[in-house]
Amino acid sequence: MAQAQEFQPEWTKPQNWPDRRRAPGYPRRWSGPSSVVAAVGLPLAIIGFSCDLVSLGCAAVAFLVIAHIIVFRVRLARFYCPECAKRLPLKWPPPGEFVRFHCRDCRIIWLTGIEVREDSGS
Ligand SMILES: [Zn+2]
Repeated sequence: MAQAQEFQPEWTKPQNWPDRRRAPGYPRRWSGPSSVVAAVGLPLAIIGFSCDLVSLGCAAVAFLVIAHIIVFRVRLARFYCPECAKRLPLKWPPPGEFVRFHCRDCRIIWLTGIEVREDSGS
């Protein structure tokens, strides 16, 4: 059995497994601005379409989409490792899992608590 252990690659050893930690500030960093955008845009969209103000409704929908993209890029996708301050790429997980960032230098997976829903992207 001792022989077999030597053939294990480095990453399979428990001491090399990445630590899983909660990313500080998440998911509020995303859900805060996101709900502000929704609180402004959704009523405008409802008013626009229910009062036959189609241009207002369309503007509100465009605002919702564009503002969410901005919030996503600035607040969610821009993440610096709290340990080493290196910028980390966003890992987009399969539906049902959580958005996370992996710092290979610190061997830490930062969990955001933001779950990817099945219906997102459709
Ligand atoms: Zn790091």
